[in-house]
Amino acid sequence: MTVRVWDYLAEYEAERPDLLDAVETVFSSGQLVLGRSVHGFEEEFAAYHGADHCVSVDNGTNAIKLGLQALGIGPGDEVITVSNTAAPTVVAIDATGATPVFVDIRADDHLMDTDQVAAAITGRTRCLLPVHLYGQCVDMAPLKELATRHGLTILEDCAQAHGARQGGTPAGTTGDAAAFSFYPTKVLGAYGDGGAVITSDGSVAERLRRLRYYGMEERYYTLETPGHNCRLDEVQAEILRRKLRRLDTYIAGRRAVARRYADGLAGTGLGLPRIAPGNDHVYYVYVVRHPRRDDIIDRLRSYDIQLNISYPWPVHTMTGFAHLGYATGSLPVTEALAAEIFSLPMYPSLTPDLQDKVIHAVREVLATL
Ligand SMILES: *Cc1c(COP(=O)(O)O)cnc(C)c1O
Repeated sequence: MTVRVWDYLAEYEAERPDLLDAVETVFSSGQLVLGRSVHGFEEEFAAYHGADHCVSVDNGTNAIKLGLQALGIGPGDEVITVSNTAAPTVVAIDATGATPVFVDIRADDHLMDTDQVAAAITGRTRCLLPVHLYGQCVDMAPLKELATRHGLTILEDCAQAHGARQGGTPAGTTGDAAAFSFYPTKVLGAYGDGGAVITSDGSVAERLRRLRYYGMEERYYTLETPGHNCRLDEVQAEILRRKLRRLDTYIAGRRAVARRYADGLAGTGLGLPRIAPGNDHVYYVYVVRHPRRDDIIDRLRSYDIQLNISYPWPVHTMTGFAHLGYATGSLPVTEALAAEIFSLPMYPSLTPDLQDKVIHAVREVLATL
């Protein structure tokens, strides 16, 4: 039996009655768009974070794009972020007409090197966009300090960090707004696409509600600024409501898997995830590092185990972003890392038996390198 890098079918089996009831609830509600489920989920997701507002949207990419636009970011502005991220972070910045500016990452935890941010700030910088990659938070205190000093906004990319905390503070509540994705593989995943922005700024929330609804207020058929159609589907919202109640259980499951990997792979020479001080990690992915990554992946092929690389190509090296002008070698830590990392299977319902198959295979391959 193949060990998949991510799988939801066992979880679906366990939750089927609740999920099918969610579908029935929406189908029989008489309101299929922006109804009770969307508004209920928004209230509950904001409350989970202790934020004042949540505005749901159709996916995480648009959560970042609309989040930036609601913060007033547009053409001519610069947004500081990292190249070691999912391409959609940068695609969303580009879609606003703003220019992404990259800083390098830290070699130990692979997160934004906040020491490099000050030097990247120019007269055009308007926003800092930290990515809470793999499931733990970027060090927010120095970013907050820089934002205050230079009059910048902060949008947190929380697509991989639902339920993560830093010094007890929930991911997504330190900046001006935070964007989430509910893509199925995420820590809180829908059965299809979904996204949301949380904020405690009422005017940002109001702009977001217009931006996702053509630029109009929900009940008034006139608009001042054209927006988009980026609504979260009512069925996905109801499924997310049900799954939000189990989010802390999913996170506990991911942490148990991470612990078993850490125990089973200690002393093998494989670089294991490093948790930054004060962080509670939610393990969206379990990323390990080895200088002979490609050989290891090659040899693991015969074991029927799926692996993944998050991410094999730093965004600044992609042809579509060549116009940004980052030469190879310009972000050395990011580039070195991309050649050495790979991800082991990680999801809450991964059984100890399947996980032990992975641990055994990796140990065997490392021993014979
Ligand atoms: C998944 C992800 C996104 C994009 O979310 P979609 O819902 O797929 O549009 C953005 N940023 C990061 C870091 C992600 O992991």
